Amino acid sequence: MVRWLEDLSGEGADLLIQCRGCGHDRTIPIGQALDIFSRHRWSTDWWLAHRRFRCRKCGSKDIKLDADFYGHAIRRQRRPPVLTAVEETLRPGLRPPPPGVPLAEWNRATEAERKRLVDRARS
Ligand SMILES: [Zn+2]
Repeated sequence: MVRWLEDLSGEGADLLIQCRGCGHDRTIPIGQALDIFSRHRWSTDWWLAHRRFRCRKCGSKDIKLDADFYGHAIRRQRRPPVLTAVEETLRPGLRPPPPGVPLAEWNRATEAERKRLVDRARS
């Protein structure tokens, strides 16, 4: 149960603002939301925070706040590759690639493409 806006950043979630009027929703990074609240000295009480937002599309103040775990995950993936670089491992259920075929290519290939990769490695 979320009690404070800060709870979201503890959970690794962003702030999802949903409009009850038109259904429009948007996610703002929780860090950005907390910045705005501290700058205005607004209470970060979860229910009081509902009053601070309005729909960007229709202007309605009838909004619902929620935690957005998905948006957070997406932004994490957008970090520079150097920070997220993990060593490529063989996808579970796949046999190892023939010599000369990069693991990354092998993992992403479809069944048909894998056959071609095998043929190519043999020739
Ligand atoms: Zn709206």
